[in-house]
Amino acid sequence: MSAGIILIGPPGVGKGTQAQLLTERRGLVHLSSGDIFRAEIASQSDLGRLAKRYIDEGRLVPNGITIEMMAKRLRTGEVRRNGFILDGFPRTVRQAEALDDDFGDLDLTLMGVVSLTASDDTILQRLAERGRADDDIETVRRRLQVFREETAPVIEHYKGKGIYRPVNSDQTIENVFSDIEECLGQ
Ligand code: ADP
Repeated sequence: MSAGIILIGPPGVGKGTQAQLLTERRGLVHLSSGDIFRAEIASQSDLGRLAKRYIDEGRLVPNGITIEMMAKRLRTGEVRRNGFILDGFPRTVRQAEALDDDFGDLDLTLMGVVSLTASDDTILQRLAERGRADDDIETVRRRLQVFREETAPVIEHYKGKGIYRPVNSDQTIENVFSDIEECLGQ
């Protein structure tokens, strides 16, 4: 049985940064749905071409495609040996339910669902500094709205399971990381 973490939170809250630290210090495999989509776009695959249309508009890529893509990554031997961090997935309740089913099939378990929060000011500032193609103000506004409508209910999904761990991301990278370590139990 292999164990992992879900990092959840709005765009720009620092999920990628913390996932990278968790990878370096705990050896977990980082599975970022956004990074995987961007790699597909770069390689000009059919999946990449399809995903790009949604990503450029700040909309979610359809559930079926996203679930299949992530399930494939979760099925690897590397994940089984080292454990995993899910970053950007699940982003809808439908994805969370599909993941629950997959976990049973794949013999995977969750150490915790870490929910990162920060003020809107902090988020907008971090996104402005990052300046990715989909970080223009209109697309960001759409992504924040999608987060409130589609992803906030995912947090409720995990609250009921006793593995929900809120962490304040409005502090230094190291302090956020040590809060995550603490709430994961070491
Ligand atoms: P951020 O978390 O900073 O918004 P990501 O790199 O996680 O950025 O995601 C970028 C885009 O990729 C999203 O706006 C969305 O279009 C798409 N995407 C990423 N993960 C998912 C997912 N789980 N379901 C649907 N679309 C996704």
